[in-house]
Amino acid sequence: MANKTNTKLAAFGATRRKGITCDEDKNLQSLISSDADVITVVAKAWDEQVIKVIETSLEENLNMISDTVKYLKSKEVMVDAEHFFDGYLSNREYAMDCLKTAAKAGADVVVLCDTNGGTMPWIVEEVTREIHKALEPWPSVRIGIHTHNDTDMAVANSLAAVRGGATLVQGCMNGYGERTGNANLVSIIGNLQVKLKYRCIPSSTLSKLASVSSFVAEIAGQLQSPSQPFVGSNAFAHKGGIHVAAIRKMPESYNHMDPTLVGNKMLSVVSELSGRGNILDKAERAGLTIDKNIAGNVLARIKKMELEGCAFEGAGASVDMLIIRRGQHYKRPFQVLEFSVISSNRGTQAQDMNTDNEDYGNCQVNQAIVKVNVNGVDQITASEGIGPVDALSHALRNALEAHYPQLSQIELEDYKVRLLEPATARKGTLSTTRVTIEFTDSKGNKWTTVGAHSSIVEASFRALVDGLEFGIVNCSEEGCST
Ligand SMILES: [Zn+2]
Repeated sequence: MANKTNTKLAAFGATRRKGITCDEDKNLQSLISSDADVITVVAKAWDEQVIKVIETSLEENLNMISDTVKYLKSKEVMVDAEHFFDGYLSNREYAMDCLKTAAKAGADVVVLCDTNGGTMPWIVEEVTREIHKALEPWPSVRIGIHTHNDTDMAVANSLAAVRGGATLVQGCMNGYGERTGNANLVSIIGNLQVKLKYRCIPSSTLSKLASVSSFVAEIAGQLQSPSQPFVGSNAFAHKGGIHVAAIRKMPESYNHMDPTLVGNKMLSVVSELSGRGNILDKAERAGLTIDKNIAGNVLARIKKMELEGCAFEGAGASVDMLIIRRGQHYKRPFQVLEFSVISSNRGTQAQDMNTDNEDYGNCQVNQAIVKVNVNGVDQITASEGIGPVDALSHALRNALEAHYPQLSQIELEDYKVRLLEPATARKGTLSTTRVTIEFTDSKGNKWTTVGAHSSIVEASFRALVDGLEFGIVNCSEEGCST
């Protein structure tokens, strides 16, 4: 449920239709009878749109605004002046009249909309400042801004409007929206609160920005971009060897802010650009102590595996395992001796394989056998699964779970396959498959591993072994520390 102290629900509609009264307008009836505290109505502010799109007179459009605001006045009313900036350039006086009419009728907020997303920030700032002046006779009316990201300016335009006197910003978490998106509220909050020192949200909740952003991505069914400013997993991740060496001495040398303010964290990422410092830093953050020789050894191994097709930038757990396995007292919790997989389709209508016959494919069989040494004892387990990798995962877990009960809370969250072109993989004529697997525990901790091979099954199995071994090392039955 929405927290009443910080949140108001707004219902969205439009001014009354031309030529009828508000009482006759069904949409307005629905708005006024809704439970929403705030009603937002879109109004035309561009003279040409009024004439060509709504096909009414400029005067009737002003009446529509005035009547609608008065009609809804029992609630808080926001008037979204659609195409405001285009309208302002086309007929400045009329665009102003639309806002003044809304203010005079009792609107609480007039919102300047850059509906087509094509206005530049300095124009937004200048125009907002002029509007602020023009609305001085109505000091209680606030100015809002509503931008779209068609020219990649939505966040910049929102900030520009705030500088010009706007005190309300409309946008969307993570910038979701049609075309190229709406203004990204996550970046707007980060910039306004951290950089410009405005108070948008209570400072105690600012540190939840990263988790709220990823929560919204999840319920929207979107993968959060790792490079999303402020909150993405790469936003404070450094891979250049020189950068990491500098950050180890002075964190602010390559970070524009303290990432923990928005609930993010600094990472050093291991890649082809890394030096030994990246490995030492990564080991330190994982609570491991290694010397420079081991770091050099891990780095050489990483570079070799990258040539084979691995990419470690998003697969920190595989790097951790390369380091952990070289630890002086480390005893591997298990050793895979061999595995095999049968993936077949025992469909009876194989002749229909190339048709759309839905009966074909009902007899998928995926079986895996794994021979593994655990604590000095060899054992063989077999399992079925919904695919070959799933069957392997089950067979391996069957062998391990009795010894390592913490595995029961670990799940495969995401599985990505990428085929690398021969040139990228540098493997002559063979193409390589890179598999990335994301694991999660019951508390939502996540870690990612990578494997690469010309066989998709082998690549998957390598990533699987890394991920499960990482889970055994970092998790107890109570939970994981990753
Ligand atoms: Zn819009």
